[in-house]
Formats: sequence, C-alpha cells, structure tokens
Amino acid sequence: MYDKNNIFAKILRKEIPCDKIYEDEFSLFFKDINPQAKIHILGIPKFPCTTLSDFLNNADNENILSFFKSVQLVISNLDIEKNGYRLITNSGDDGGQEVPHFHLHILAGEKIGRLR
Ligand code: 5GP
Repeated sequence: MYDKNNIFAKILRKEIPCDKIYEDEFSLFFKDINPQAKIHILGIPKFPCTTLSDFLNNADNENILSFFKSVQLVISNLDIEKNGYRLITNSGDDGGQEVPHFHLHILAGEKIGRLR
C-alpha cells in the first residue's frame, strides 16, 4: 500500500524542497540529502510505487521506459559513464529501504567501496 505522505511524495508535490538536477513528465532526479559518495543522486518515477517490483508490475510501459531512459540521460549529463557508477535500489525490510517510494541511488565521482 502506497503511503502518500512519504517524503518523496512530498518532494514530488513540492511541499518540501529538493536539489533538483533533472525533471520531466515522468521522473525527478535530485541530490541525496546525506550523500554517501561525491556524486549521490536519487532518481524517482512520478508514478506512485513503493518498490522496483511495484513499479515494474503496475506502471505502464511508457512510464517504465521513460524513467530508465531518464536514468541514462542523467548518467550522460553527469559525465560518469566512462569512470563508472553504481546503481542501487533498496527494497523492503531486508533491503534496508527507508523511504517507501521506489528510488534508484546513483553513486559516482569516486571509487565506491564494497557493499559489505
Ligand atoms: P533508502 O534507504 O530508502 O534506499 O534511501 C533513502 C535515501 O533518501 C537516503 O539516502 C536518504 O539520505 C535520502 N533522503 C531522506 N530524506 C530525504 C530528503 O528529505 N531529501 C533528500 N534529498 N534525500 C532524502
């Protein structure tokens, strides 16, 4: 069940600010408030969904394709493709998800350490 009062829903409704780096009809990308790398961007679809699986199961193809095309556009705009980057999505309790609106972490700008 999607919680309309989660923090990213509030950011999408512009009730709280974010440091936006890209936005279009389907997606919003902004800087993480507590960066874990020199570059730490969060990418979210505007479609209300809790996890990647929720997004892939319930959004239509236009939403899904547009979101992932935007991920690549942001990667290209950040000029991180050559040096590399890490994409993470945390899902549910075992995945350590804190904000229950599906988001991709884009980490880059330095060597990203091992996960554990
Ligand atoms: P999760 O653990 O759910 O995958 O990651 C949630 C992320 O959202 C964390 O990296 C956290 O720093 C970030 N975050 C939480 N609240 C805010 C906020 O109000 N603004 C921004 N820009 N990032 C947030």
